[in-house]
Amino acid sequence: MTFAPPDPSILNGEHAVPLAARPAPVEPQRDSDVAVAHNYHPLPVRIVTGEGAWVTDENGARYLDLLSAYSALNFGHRHPRLVAAAHRQLDRLTLTSRAFTNDQLGPFSESLARLCGKEAVLTMNTGAEAVETAIKTARRWGYFRKGVAPDQAVIVTFNGNFHGRTTTIVGFSTDPDAREGFGPFTPGFVSVPYGDLDAVRAVLTNSTVGVLVEPIQGEAGVVVPPEGFLRGLRQLCDEAGVLMMADEVQSGLCRTGKTFACDHEGVRPDIYILGKALSGGIMPLSAIVADWSVLDVLTPGSHGSTFGGNPLACAVGREVLAMVETGEFQARAAELGTFFIGQLRELVGHGVQAVRGRGLWAGLDLDADGPSGRALCEALLERGILAKDCHDHTVRFAPPIVIDRFELAWATEQIAAAVAAGRR
Ligand code: PLP
Repeated sequence: MTFAPPDPSILNGEHAVPLAARPAPVEPQRDSDVAVAHNYHPLPVRIVTGEGAWVTDENGARYLDLLSAYSALNFGHRHPRLVAAAHRQLDRLTLTSRAFTNDQLGPFSESLARLCGKEAVLTMNTGAEAVETAIKTARRWGYFRKGVAPDQAVIVTFNGNFHGRTTTIVGFSTDPDAREGFGPFTPGFVSVPYGDLDAVRAVLTNSTVGVLVEPIQGEAGVVVPPEGFLRGLRQLCDEAGVLMMADEVQSGLCRTGKTFACDHEGVRPDIYILGKALSGGIMPLSAIVADWSVLDVLTPGSHGSTFGGNPLACAVGREVLAMVETGEFQARAAELGTFFIGQLRELVGHGVQAVRGRGLWAGLDLDADGPSGRALCEALLERGILAKDCHDHTVRFAPPIVIDRFELAWATEQIAAAVAAGRR
């Protein structure tokens, strides 16, 4: 790994800024945010620079980023290789639309198809758009290839899912906050308990065209399904003749210690859904990846996006894929993850009820009678750590994979101290 952490003092076991000397986080001046919609409840920190695993706020205080923009920053903030690729492309060409072609989309698609062991790629921008693309593809495949009766296609989803925020996607969410006030919703989805193969089997019919699954449910709190679930799902999909669609938007591209979370069970879905880290954290870039027998159902005029496949995002994406192909990040996430999750598990019984995770990705459930996840994140912010709650008492950690062991050790000290302080 050539990307050195920016602050060598951490390597000496010192805090980036000693706790006592660290300026208390200052509530950002709300008057400069008056026009910002309230669809998020951010922690009170206004970030102005970032490098590697670290960011700096407007007061000069530094924070170790344990969220990585929900895994979009797997390679850290402004990785030099990715920034250089972006600069090179910025000086050449940024956008053509798909009315024409450009010299980055083809090579990017070929590399991504090779990485997935598939034949074809359809690029979009956000994760939700890639999920929508997979849904449209599965429906068309159902009508055109499987012979499902018009407008009868059904897709199986899972309780606790998170696939994005479009009207169709929130329609099959089981989270009331995501749905309330947004109906009427798109029909054609049936949701079953996550990890339950019998429940999937029970809802499969001749009209089922696909199963949409997160190999690990990230937003639900890094929920790892029972061993054999993905293999069983693959088998069920094969037997029933339906498409297995793996939403690896958050779990994919090295986060779990392998290229894809499905790799842990040796499973290859019919459609990979990718996003977040594919962008290098620079230009939104998402994609679905499948064989031609599936993707060929999309014909000119049936789907698209003005920015999808733009040369700037694809140039950065090509560099991302070159980095993924080295295997370094998978190995690093696996090794650091074992250490990190091992450290976190020591907190179980001391204010922590459970720790789940795989690779460098962990969900930590606090005791139900202790502080909330939000309160812990606020306490961590004061200790120089950025993290995000995902339920009342759950906090998820997804550090940039460029983080090192010393930084992680320091982070776990802070987490332990914040949990302990919350119990008092
Ligand atoms: N799918 C999964 C598994 C996700 O975790 C997310 C975002 O967290 C999405 C899709 C949506 O991605 P985006 O926010 O880029 O639309």
